Amino acid sequence: MSSKTLPQAHVKCSLKKCTLQPNNFRAAKGLSGRRPQRRDSSVVFNTPGRERVCTTFAAGFGPRKGPEKKVKVADPVIAEEITPCLCDSGKDYGSCCQPYHKENSYPSDPETLMRSRYTAFCKATPATLQYLIDTTHPDHLAIVDKTELELKDDYNLSCKNIAYEGLKVLSSEDGESEDEAFVTFRIWYKFVASFEGKRGGKTRKATEKSDRKTNTEKSRFKKVDGRWLFIESVESDQTSFRLGDESEESTDVLLKGKDAASKALGMAAKARQQFGFKGKQ
Ligand SMILES: [Zn+2]
Repeated sequence: MSSKTLPQAHVKCSLKKCTLQPNNFRAAKGLSGRRPQRRDSSVVFNTPGRERVCTTFAAGFGPRKGPEKKVKVADPVIAEEITPCLCDSGKDYGSCCQPYHKENSYPSDPETLMRSRYTAFCKATPATLQYLIDTTHPDHLAIVDKTELELKDDYNLSCKNIAYEGLKVLSSEDGESEDEAFVTFRIWYKFVASFEGKRGGKTRKATEKSDRKTNTEKSRFKKVDGRWLFIESVESDQTSFRLGDESEESTDVLLKGKDAASKALGMAAKARQQFGFKGKQ
């Protein structure tokens, strides 16, 4: 049977994406002078001695598999805008915290302000550092007994020496007056230390990170001239939680293990006392 007389079903390419256009095929043996390889997954062996190759898809790569590849954006500014925002809002940075960091707009509620301040710490640029200063209530300096310069140094150190790994906002609540509010959130982070030295005549850099740490914090915010500002941290708890955990109880395995062990020891001590048992501790 010649290829011209083949019914359509017989010349069908084995690839789903093939458009079945005759131009997509060529006789591999006759035109390229090579026998079709195993990688030519679209070779159709429906005509003895006249193997056909789908020229669109049989360039040695075979059919595309798996999820669609992400498009790489060369422009770093655009790439940053379309990156998911680090504040866990589910939005892109360009339509979430970036306009606040550029001071093009201002967060309309304390929770959004809190999220944008977290992202500012993560970004750690001169602009976001300034944003942290601009969104801090003047009374905060008196509360922590620091000058603005010292506060800026603190923020700078936090940006440099802490790698922020996650945020979960747990709750937002109103304060006693209209211009007061509280936001409770949890962050995950690691302390980072950078080293630089010379070895073999070359300058080498190294970084070391601590174990992941958790901080659950309740912050107080105040509204001044229509703008919410961070005033102080009113509660802070370093209990360890797994990344992304929103529960109230720690799920940290080590901590739970320690709890269970101390409870067991307490029960054993009680039992010894009750039954007058004097054995090995
Ligand atoms: Zn955001």
